[in-house]
Amino acid sequence: MKDIYGREIEYLRLSVTQSCNLKCIYCMPDNDGAENIKCGRMLSAEEMGIVIKALAGLGIKKVRITGGEPLLREDIYTILRNISNIPGIADISMTTNGMCLEKAARKLKKSGLMRLNISIDSLKKERFAYLTGGGNIEKVLRGIKASLEEGLNPVRLNTVLIKGVNDDEVDDFIALTENLPLDVRFIELMPIGRFGEDNTDKIVYNDSIIERRPWLVPCAVEDIGQPARYYRISGFKGRVGFISPMSHKFCRNCNRIRLTCDGKIRPCLGSNGEISILDVLRERPNNLVDTLKKAIFEKPRGHNFENNFNSIRSMNMIGG
Ligand code: SAM
Ligand code: SF4
Repeated sequence: MKDIYGREIEYLRLSVTQSCNLKCIYCMPDNDGAENIKCGRMLSAEEMGIVIKALAGLGIKKVRITGGEPLLREDIYTILRNISNIPGIADISMTTNGMCLEKAARKLKKSGLMRLNISIDSLKKERFAYLTGGGNIEKVLRGIKASLEEGLNPVRLNTVLIKGVNDDEVDDFIALTENLPLDVRFIELMPIGRFGEDNTDKIVYNDSIIERRPWLVPCAVEDIGQPARYYRISGFKGRVGFISPMSHKFCRNCNRIRLTCDGKIRPCLGSNGEISILDVLRERPNNLVDTLKKAIFEKPRGHNFENNFNSIRSMNMIGG
């Protein structure tokens, strides 16, 4: 269905947990981020299926599973299978930190996962460990290899660049696209969470990367609702993508809403408004569709990142 501004909303980001096995410096709050959800207030796999079925009836066609770290949910395969059985859902993807991916890739594919985004902010062992609060780059690289071998397509790597921290690795990441059929994507640091809010001077603007690399050739835009703009180096197997929420506001074409693991619809990443559907789902299920319709219709015009935005939730709690 269309929202108040005429945007066709067809993409759901489903956060299945706010817990994580890493602690990326720009993402996780000082506590583990999970303690705020009261016992019994998490959506079950079955409840997620009910909400997504209702959303599919309103025009949602694509679902991306995220978190926190989605592979920490023991019932992740049930969640995937439930979603893949919903008529109208044509595309199921996931964003993961890749730490548990090597073993999971095959079962994820079998359970209905089609595409995969893996977050990786450095290719250097020690720097990766620092940025992620103890992550193991070797494990993530093995996870990427396993995903490609299982035929997940596309596999995309997401890198958040931070000035003076990892922006010297841009060409190392781009070099991965020479022989691997990967999309490597650079995401501008957003002011969500304390690190992002305190370090707006450390944003690496994507235009500055593109301008200095005239050998990057723009690809045709395939999907206007997709915020990444893609480039390619002639003869390379993969592509380089740029997601620029800070320098190029793409809200006019935004087609997504979010559902948090504690049952809140968050229509916009960069606006604090949320609509709780947990009690509606459990106590007044006949009202679920109308509540979802209202949440979609009233999606805000755009994010507030330029207005000293303070998010009430950190990214692991929203589902990046
Ligand atoms: N744990 C999974 C992962 O890391 O891929 C999924 C959840 S994580 C919150 C999803 C994405 O949000 C990651 O790619 C991460 O880099 C990104 N992210 C988190 N905080 C961010 C921020 N302040 N600015 C830009 N991207 C951010
Ligand atoms: Fe965990 Fe992903 Fe946040 Fe890193 S970005 S702390 S892996 S949820």
